[in-house]
Amino acid sequence: MTARSIDGKAIAAGVRAEVAAAVKQLPAPPALAVVLVGDDPASHVYVASKAKQTVEAGMRSVEVRLPADTAETELIAKVEALSRDPEVDGILVQLPLPKHIVEAKVLAALDPLKDVDGLTEANAGKLVLGKPGLRPCTPVGCVILAKTERPDLSGANVVVIGRSILVGKPAALLFLEQNATVTLAHSKTRDLKIVCRGADILVAAVGRPEMVRGDWVRPGAIVIDVGTNRVPAPEKGEGKTKLVGDVHFAEAAEVAGAISPSPGGVGPMTIACLLRNTVLAACARRGWAVPAALGQA
Ligand code: NAP
Repeated sequence: MTARSIDGKAIAAGVRAEVAAAVKQLPAPPALAVVLVGDDPASHVYVASKAKQTVEAGMRSVEVRLPADTAETELIAKVEALSRDPEVDGILVQLPLPKHIVEAKVLAALDPLKDVDGLTEANAGKLVLGKPGLRPCTPVGCVILAKTERPDLSGANVVVIGRSILVGKPAALLFLEQNATVTLAHSKTRDLKIVCRGADILVAAVGRPEMVRGDWVRPGAIVIDVGTNRVPAPEKGEGKTKLVGDVHFAEAAEVAGAISPSPGGVGPMTIACLLRNTVLAACARRGWAVPAALGQA
């Protein structure tokens, strides 16, 4: 391997330390509410981890767990109640929701000032307009990781593969905000490999295990792998699985200048940026100055 490995765990720990220092400078600890519907085991692990890290950063964690058969109206009423609660600063509705619930309706019930996932129409609109607002956590994490390797992204050629509302599209807009020249690729993009080879910074957010091969990567490029895909791992024993990214790590690491592994890259950044957003949300809503300790995204 010739590429530097971008250590998302360590960088995320740094962001969490900044958040914890910032929280100490606030008049009161902010509170983050996480709403979980159903019993998806992966979601339960995420939510427990979010709650633990919220408390470790000195903030208050409010966990709302609802059964899988919760009615849409009941969930919306819960989100509205949290939106009204003056003691709650951030609200995250853990996705995906059970199939009988329309996500957009639930997000519409969320106070945009508490939308720490940056998924409401109001915050998405602010991102497009270049206005201050809460930005989606995973894409912010991608930008922070890229900036650890290249602090000034101005003029960089960035290719983002994937145009989801959650990751690809906001990532493209956030890199644009950094004055990068952005190409947003997707399933209909022609000659994807050639497009990717033009990237100084290649962000893969596709959900296809190891799709990006070594010869898709420009020598010396920065590769950010957002993908987390569970695949069979017969080498670990019968029926065992493992997580891999959207990038073939071993091949890409021979060509890239720096690469974020998956797991251990973007994943830890997502929660760190969620905590960061909770502080920003509390400051904006309560009229507090943002503590200098929080640092820049
Ligand atoms: P998604 O909603 O399924 O979107 C996938 C995107 O990839 C779509 O825009 C799709 O294009 C594009 N795509 C699919 N096949 C393609 C192909 N062959 N060539 C080019 N583009 C292709 O997925 P997502 O929610 O953005 O998540 C993407 C990955 O990131 C997943 O592995 C997910 O688990 C992971 N993720 C990780 C974190 C984290 O914190 N680490 C957070 C969120 C997501 P079309 O629009 O044309 O269909």
